[in-house]
Amino acid sequence: MKIKTKLRLGLGVLFLMILALSLIAARCIYVLKEDTENILLDNYKTLDYTRSMFLAIDQIQINPEAWTKFEQNLKNQMANVTEPGEGEITEKIRAHYASLKTDPNSKHLAVLIRNDLAELTRINMEAIRAKSDKALATVQSAFIWIALTGTVCFLIAFTLLINMPGNIGNPIRELTESIRAIAAKKYAERLHFSGKDEFGELANSFNTMAEKLEEYDNSNLSQILVEKKRIEALINNMHEPVIGLDENQRILFANEEAVKITGIAGSDLLGKSAIELAEHNDLIRALIQNKTGMNGDIGYKTTPSLKIYADDKESYFEKEVVDITIIPTGERQKKFIGQVILLKNITPFKELDFAKTNFIATVSHELKTPISSIKMSLQLLESQQTGMLNEEQKQLMESIKEDSNRLLKITGELLNMSQVETGNIQLSIQPSSPASIMQYALDAVKLSMEQKGIELVVQTDENLPDVKADMEKTAWVLINFLTNAIRYSQQEGRLLLEIRDGQNGVRFSVRDEGKGIDSRYRNKIFDRYFQVPGSSKTGTGLGLAISKEFIEAQGGAIGVNSEIGMGSTFYFQLAKA
Ligand code: ADP
Repeated sequence: MKIKTKLRLGLGVLFLMILALSLIAARCIYVLKEDTENILLDNYKTLDYTRSMFLAIDQIQINPEAWTKFEQNLKNQMANVTEPGEGEITEKIRAHYASLKTDPNSKHLAVLIRNDLAELTRINMEAIRAKSDKALATVQSAFIWIALTGTVCFLIAFTLLINMPGNIGNPIRELTESIRAIAAKKYAERLHFSGKDEFGELANSFNTMAEKLEEYDNSNLSQILVEKKRIEALINNMHEPVIGLDENQRILFANEEAVKITGIAGSDLLGKSAIELAEHNDLIRALIQNKTGMNGDIGYKTTPSLKIYADDKESYFEKEVVDITIIPTGERQKKFIGQVILLKNITPFKELDFAKTNFIATVSHELKTPISSIKMSLQLLESQQTGMLNEEQKQLMESIKEDSNRLLKITGELLNMSQVETGNIQLSIQPSSPASIMQYALDAVKLSMEQKGIELVVQTDENLPDVKADMEKTAWVLINFLTNAIRYSQQEGRLLLEIRDGQNGVRFSVRDEGKGIDSRYRNKIFDRYFQVPGSSKTGTGLGLAISKEFIEAQGGAIGVNSEIGMGSTFYFQLAKA
């Protein structure tokens, strides 16, 4: 039965019972009222007339008015005959009274009338008793009826009170629990309401929904598994090593190439903590550590290539670490969920690079001897041992001298660079005085500074501590800074050379008032062979790159602050000895 019908039925029966109770009570009260009214109307009046007639008959001989009074009451009584036998006795009274009228002194007739009146009183008294008994019976039956209907009402109300809340509340509670289970992805949850009411229909719909969700979930799972397999196959077939880590650096996947180069079996890699593995495996350690060289203020990043020996050969790899972030459903904040480490095989490029470096080194080395002999020949010509030179020849000789100096500088830089690239920088780091480094550099650039009429301001802290440095290489860097500053300064410009004792070491800086460097190129000027577009093409674009290598090899930091049109400040910092 439907809940709606059940509710209607229950409440309807209750309503009917209350109605019946009210009707029964009203009827009983009405019957009681009728009974009392009858007594008053029928019997009380008769008794009243009878009493008046008694009084009149007693006075009939002495008071003539008693006749009228008697007749009046008799007339009233004749009109109020209500009880069985009352009619006959009234008739008798009337007959005896008529006889008395003809014989007013008859004592016998007066006695007869009195007897009749007594009989009339008795009949009415009995009728009153009978009516009183009837009223009592009515009260009793009313009591029984009201009690009976009241009890039935109570029983129905009590049953409804006990059953109704449970009937409605229990299925709702079960439904709530099942919905919670579904929300927690327990799709096997079902409702078992047996009835054919609304809850039964609800259970059917709910179970269908849960079944479909279960089916959908299962089909999704198998689809996800297929996709997972596809992605795994894809990663495995990649020719470059790939390793996936979760947010706690646990290895999620590693393709065959990755397994090959790490030398650890796949089963020993998957699910293991990379941090723990790194304790015994150098390669894993190199892969998970974020080793990027920070270069002073300019944030220049270098990712050193990894040299890995696998498959009986040496290979070079470039590491790329990709952070994986997602925005979880319903959230706004990005969440870090792991990293993918990609290794790019750069061996062929490295081999070409080595070949190029070796070629440059050989060529620059081979060029050094003829350039030196050109310079020697120039010196001979200059000393005029081979004869006098005219003005024109002198000018030609000056330009040959300039060009050969440039050639020597270029070959020197190329040699330095090939040293850097092959990792052959020979450093002799020892406590060196900043003042002597400065002096060495100033001596080297003195002439070109004078030629351009540059004013040099030197500011140094007092009692500068020694620095841990290779004197020659550091002076080379300072010379490079000064040469650049002179080259990019105006004629008769101003240079500021500062050496300051700082918290993190001693800082050397060269400031010029030249054209400055555009912010677009500031990060690139330390790259090999880079020259700011539009600047003088006489250089090689190697000076700052070599400077950076020299300073970083000594554990220092290098950088530049510059604004276009505001001059530039190049600086490097070295640790105190
Ligand atoms: P180069 O031999 O070309 O001078 P560097 O490595 O020394 O090579 O410098 C790279 C580039 O940086 C230069 O081409 C130049 O454009 C820019 N540069 C270096 N120093 C300065 C400076 N003091 N003022 C403006 N630009 C500079």
